Amino acid sequence: MIHLKTPEEIDTIARGGAIIADFLVEIRPRIRPGVSTLELDEFADDFIRAHNGAVPAFKGLYGFPGSVCTSVNEEVVHGIPQAARKLEDGDIISIDVGVKLDGWCSDSAWTFPVGEIDESTDHLMKVTEEALDRAVSAAVLEGSVGDIGAAVVTRVKGTGLGIIRDLVGHGVGREVHEEPQVPNFGLSGTGPALREGMVLAIEPMLSCGTPDIQTLDDRWTVVTLDRTRSAHFEHTVAVTSVGPRILTGAPAEAPA
Ligand code: MG
Ligand code: MG
Repeated sequence: MIHLKTPEEIDTIARGGAIIADFLVEIRPRIRPGVSTLELDEFADDFIRAHNGAVPAFKGLYGFPGSVCTSVNEEVVHGIPQAARKLEDGDIISIDVGVKLDGWCSDSAWTFPVGEIDESTDHLMKVTEEALDRAVSAAVLEGSVGDIGAAVVTRVKGTGLGIIRDLVGHGVGREVHEEPQVPNFGLSGTGPALREGMVLAIEPMLSCGTPDIQTLDDRWTVVTLDRTRSAHFEHTVAVTSVGPRILTGAPAEAPA
């Protein structure tokens, strides 16, 4: 069942989302060669908990050990923060972060470059972020969930990049993961109708090669089957009478 949120509930989710937006700004200068993914996780945990009762929504979710997911290079999602995993120049890292505040969740992800990245990686990141923008723009009344996936497909077509299909976006609310599923593929006009008060995590994940994925023996880390790199950008978005309202935020304003 799809839970519709009141304007007040959406405002509460947006307050949590604002913490995520600030976090993404603050984490950016800390992402550099030599830093471990555990150090980034510890910063995230401290940062989120410093905000009036906010907690990292992923900590312990289904048993996940970290406060955020840190997925490097060929890792798509659910990378476990580790002291031994140090970032290197030319890597990319996707940080997936959830906040729970006053009983309501928000969910976002952003892929960052570590130092200087090569051209194909830059292309991957740009197309994935643009796919997110297009997909968010499709989250309008009169539309359907299929329009969101179709917008991703339209942007990715012809780029040579793969759309990860086995992982999808989702409703967000009192739980991190609610109905409906929001695939990154689909046909316009199909799937559940978009209604005022729906809050959706829209999250395209692309790879430089195959769309196929595999879960590692740690039972968490999802990697591309061909080990090509993957990028992941995600916003929590409310469907409103005046259009899509992004409740999380981009770190674009931050100095690199
Ligand atoms: Mg997320
Ligand atoms: Mg999500």
